[in-house]
Amino acid sequence: MSFLDVLKQTDFNTIKEVTYRATAADVARTLAQRHWDVADLPVLLSPAAADYLEQMATIARQITLLRFGSVIRLYAPLYISNECVNACAYCGFNRTNNIERLTLTIEQALQEADALHAQGFRHLLLVSGEHREKVPPSYLEAIVRRLSEKFAAVTIEVYPLEENEYRRLGDAGVTGIAIYQETYDRAVYRAMHNGPKADFDYRLLAPERAGRAGYREIGIGALLGLTDFRIDISILGHHAAYLMKTFWKAQVAISFPRLRAACGGFVPPAAVSDRDLAQIVFALRMALPDVDLVLSTREKPAFRDGMAGLGITRMSAGSKTKPGGYSLSDDALEQFEVADTRPPAEVAAMLYRKNLEPVWKDFDRHFLRG
Ligand code: SF4
Repeated sequence: MSFLDVLKQTDFNTIKEVTYRATAADVARTLAQRHWDVADLPVLLSPAAADYLEQMATIARQITLLRFGSVIRLYAPLYISNECVNACAYCGFNRTNNIERLTLTIEQALQEADALHAQGFRHLLLVSGEHREKVPPSYLEAIVRRLSEKFAAVTIEVYPLEENEYRRLGDAGVTGIAIYQETYDRAVYRAMHNGPKADFDYRLLAPERAGRAGYREIGIGALLGLTDFRIDISILGHHAAYLMKTFWKAQVAISFPRLRAACGGFVPPAAVSDRDLAQIVFALRMALPDVDLVLSTREKPAFRDGMAGLGITRMSAGSKTKPGGYSLSDDALEQFEVADTRPPAEVAAMLYRKNLEPVWKDFDRHFLRG
């Protein structure tokens, strides 16, 4: 049974009812448990639970320490192209936006990677808009083959691929995938997307295709701000639990892309506050103790510093969200505005001050050979 089948059987109304009917007594009873799972998410994400953030933070911190120690893994996104055939309402790379379009040559991409390597990064996330012709699998394969000589982990955030294509890229050195469903609400999804990405089911099943191709990391997420996060995150939790169970050898990660200003002036219809985002992180950490929780530079330094150690286990640092941003021109348009502009060394120093340990590398491909 795929997650598409699971989703078809999911009763959104019941989740909504439990979320909005939960009382303080329900929350207190849930927090008093010794273990939690995804069935507890509607209560943990309820408006009533928002009054228990401190208690949830304490539990989330304890679980994180127990499962992950005091380690925060650092990674950097490498934008290789801003060309896109889609017209997602919320994105600066939207094909209808009249911006300068750029796809890096293989040599330029390697130059960008060298700049990140010099900063200490050994985990790269290759990011591109969705354009199969400008960014074909063969191009990705050529870049990854070269990068895998220097980087312990190379993950990709590109258009959804077929299983055999994921396999081919895996053979070239791709270690993982990040692909966000954006929202699990089909009606909202339909309203926001235009182009091949409008195929909700094909996108939803991409993490499973990557899992079957043997990827070590599978990252998913929902775009915060599109719809009621309390419901979307409950479903996202079920998606993560499904992937963890089905692909038990892979590390499943959840990201929290919160909508920020982008070219085109899109205003998020269901804004998510800092307190909301903290509740999301704590709830997911409690329900899914072994999932990797990722916080990007979309978030402001004060928020990132505060959340480090309270559930988050992976962070980007020093990110540029435009192709060529690290070592080439500074002209191309960003996909979204970066809020934490501190250099990676400064982020690492912040983590040390909080008695956390920034980790640039936690695996070596050599272990996979022989
Ligand atoms: S979100 Fe992705 S697919 Fe949509 S317009 Fe932006 S780059 Fe293209």
